[in-house]
Order: sequence, then C-alpha cells, then structure tokens
Amino acid sequence: MNAQPDPNATSGALRSDFANLIDGELVAGKEWFDVLNPATGRAFARAPAVDRAGLDRAVAAARRAFAAWRATSVAERRAAIGRMAQILTDNAAALAELLTLEQGKPLGQSRDEISRAASQSVGMAQILIADELLEESAQRRIELKYFPLGVVGVITPWNAPINLAAGPMVAALYTGNTVVLKPSPYTPLCTLQVAALLREVFPPGVLNVVAGGDELGEWMTAHPGIDKISFTGSVETGKKVMASCAGSLKRLTLELGGNDAAIVLDDVDPRAVAPKLFFAAFVNSGQVCMAIKRIYAHQSIYPELCAALAEEATKARVGSGLEAGVQLGPIQNLEQYQKVVGILQDTAAGGARILAGGKLPEGPGYFFPPTIVADIDEHSRLVQEEQFGPIVPVMSFTDEEEALRRANATRFGLSGSVWSADPERAARLAERLEVGTAWVNQHRATSPTVPFGGAKESGLGRQYAALGLKGYMEPRVISVLKG
Ligand code: NAD
Repeated sequence: MNAQPDPNATSGALRSDFANLIDGELVAGKEWFDVLNPATGRAFARAPAVDRAGLDRAVAAARRAFAAWRATSVAERRAAIGRMAQILTDNAAALAELLTLEQGKPLGQSRDEISRAASQSVGMAQILIADELLEESAQRRIELKYFPLGVVGVITPWNAPINLAAGPMVAALYTGNTVVLKPSPYTPLCTLQVAALLREVFPPGVLNVVAGGDELGEWMTAHPGIDKISFTGSVETGKKVMASCAGSLKRLTLELGGNDAAIVLDDVDPRAVAPKLFFAAFVNSGQVCMAIKRIYAHQSIYPELCAALAEEATKARVGSGLEAGVQLGPIQNLEQYQKVVGILQDTAAGGARILAGGKLPEGPGYFFPPTIVADIDEHSRLVQEEQFGPIVPVMSFTDEEEALRRANATRFGLSGSVWSADPERAARLAERLEVGTAWVNQHRATSPTVPFGGAKESGLGRQYAALGLKGYMEPRVISVLKG
C-alpha cells in the first residue's frame, strides 16, 4: 500500500517536531511527508523521510555498534530493556494521544497498546536462551549454542505501531542484535517519538529508526548490510519481502494477515458470549491481525447469537478516538476504508442480510459503523478475504466437522477459537484448527512467554517466547572429540 500525501488535505501549521534516529543522532529529513488524522482526513503533522544514503548510514551504524552490543551480558541488555519499558510507561499519556491522532483508535485502546508494549518487553527479557548439551560421553561433548545474527531490519504496519515495533525490536536487541526499524508511512510519528525517548537508553547505532514510504522497506529487504528482516504486514507484501530477502538469504520472520474463525457450539449461552465475540471482532475497528473475522454458530443458537451481536453493534459508540466513551474510532486510512466499503457493497449486492450497521455516515473522517452480516454466501469477499475493518459475517452450521472444514477452508492460518460450555470438548476441536494459535472460550489472548505467529500464508516463524527469540539467533553446534 502506498502512502500518498493528499495535497488537498493539508491546511494550517503542521507539527514537524519529529526526527529519524541514526547512529544516536536525531536527524531531520531532506524531504517530508504528511501524516493524516483519520478522524478528520486532514494532515496534522509531517514526518521526515530517509533517502537511500540515510538508510546506508543507519545500516553502517548498526553494523559498527554490533560488535560491542553483542559482547554485553544478558543482564545488561535486560536492564536496558527494563529502562525502555519504564520510559514507555512514564510517557504513556502523551504517546497515547499521539497514537490516537495518527492511528485513530480510542484513547483507552492506545493506552492499552503502550502498556502491553512495556509489559511484553519486560516479559520477553526474562526468558533465558540456554546452551543445550546434546551429548556428553567418553568420546564426545556436543553442545548447541545460540548467537546473535547481526543487524535486524524491522518493518511494521499501521494498526498497532508501538506494540508491533516493540515486539521484534526487543527480541532483536535482547538477543544481542542491533536494529534498523521502519514504521508504516501511515503511522510513523509514535515510533519516531519512542526512538527519541530511547536515545539515551541504547548506545549509538544499536537502535536506529528511519521513516519513509514503501520503497524504504524494499531497500531494506535488499540491503546487503542487513542480516534478518522481521516483517509485520499483509500477506501480499510479505511475499514480496520473502522474494527480496532470497537475494542474500536473509533470515526472516513474517507476521502476516489472518482470517480468524470463531466456532460457537450448541451448548453456549449466546447472550453471554456475544459481548466477548463482539470485542474480539471489533476492537481497533477490526484492524487487528488476530481479530475474529468469521463467526460460525451452531444452527440451534444462530438466530439468538445474531440478534445479540446486532444489539452490541447498535449500542457501540463510533467517533473520534479522542472523545470520551467512544468504542470504535475511524478506519486508519483512505485506501483501507475504500477496501472495506467495497466489501460492504459486494456483501449487499450478494443478497446477505445486514443486521446492524452498513450505513456510512456523511462528513469527514473514515468512519464506518460496526456491521453484522448474516446469511452470506461462503464464497463472498467478506468471508474469503481479510476484511481488516468493522464488518463481520455470522454463518450457521449443523455439525462440528462441517464447521471445522469451513473454518479451515482458507489460505490464512493465523489463529482461531472454539466456544463451548465444555472446554475439553472445545479443545478437541480447537486442536484441529489449522492455525498458529487456537483458543478456547477466549480470543486474542497473548503473552510474551507464548509463541505467536501464523500457519499457512499467515506467516513464517514465531514472535515472542524462546521459540520467537531463537528466530533472531543462529544456532551453532560445537562438537568436541575427546582424547
Ligand atoms: P502492508 O503490508 O501494506 O505494509 C506493512 C509495512 O511494509 C509498511 O511499513 C510498508 O511501508 C512496508 N512495505 C510495503 N511494501 C513493501 C515492500 N515491497 N517491501 C518491504 N516493505 C514494504 O501492511 P499494512 O496494511 O500496513 O498492515 C495491515 C496488515 O498487517 C494486515 O494484513 C494485518 O493482518 C497484518 N498484521 C499482521 C500481524 C501479525 O502479527 N500477524 C500484526 C498486525 C498486522
């Protein structure tokens, strides 16, 4: 997706107190690009763009800093990450406001994102990657040890810019790598602000943050000085990233899109479960990789669940994320808004029943009411694609095998959930979802000590936990023949 500044959107004085962080210095851009507030559709700030020479400087600084940073102890790196988390917490109020301005999510959800970034960073930095003794015999000692890779390029999307930067950045830094981080051109400001706050925490060159358009991401994936790319974004871009990384066989972690199914069994109280399903589907206006994007409900509870979800949607308040009491902010950018509108039009044209929402408000901003759709054709865009917006289909099934087959009939495989009064019954079904994470009676429950990532086209590798951290390290076998 290209972030093209809209010349008509600019008016008045724009904030421009943002800089890139390169080799410990705050560097202004030769060129700037506009950042829009999705609640108004107007630019409110400008971000400094880094050119190819700027990227080269950042990569060279990261390479220089690697030798000393990899030699620090785990305890020193843990302490630096602890200081980083404290700085995020101390600056949460100002950061949350900026996050809501550029991303659109309600202020409470911005605060949650920042506190999650802080606590997950601390949690990840408690994990120990121990050496493994594979053989100790009279003849041989064989050990497996893990070493940092070098310079890690981190590329992030616009839906949760702080938390999705913190995860891979902390994983890379904690395991002894240095970082060049590029935020989405739609939401660069918080990431640049965090970089400025962290300037004193990490030695020069250890953490570099550079803003720019999609082409900056392309340069990173092709850059010979970068050893690994940690990419979070769409499946489509993920495939381009993988192809580009192949040129130098860069290590790769891909956290891509999802089309999560929730299967609701016949023994569930539909009214009790509806608010939980609604929140997991519509938080951040559905712009969450692991949001519930399809609901399969047993036919015996289908009408009642549809009614309860429609009720939740009707009472949810949509508005600017800065207003108190708002539960759904705008869609983050015009391109995504147009995509979701296209899906709505396709849904209506296909004859599905729209139980709540579906009517777009007049006026500025990319607002879209929470929309619940019933009786939809399984082959429609809303069921097949990742809508990444506040519109969710609810479909009925007659037996569990059929529900499982339909839930798995997708190229996506990020996560999914099964809901039942009998958790063991649900767990037996959940185990057969073809996903990276299968939840029972919950959705979107993550932790720094639990690996997260996608099956099928939803990703490659894992983030978080020892499994995720090892993705930022090269395993090395040391085999000693004795005597
Ligand atoms: P996107 O793929 O359009 O962009 C993501 C990032 O990649 C941006 O920084 C962009 O500038 C950069 N980019 C674009 N083209 C590039 C290229 N050719 N080479 C290198 N970098 C390039 O994604 P988006 O629209 O910003 O984010 C939404 C998507 O991200 C959704 O599909 C969502 O599900 C996914 N996502 C996944 C996770 C996860 O953990 N699995 C988390 C959040 C979002």
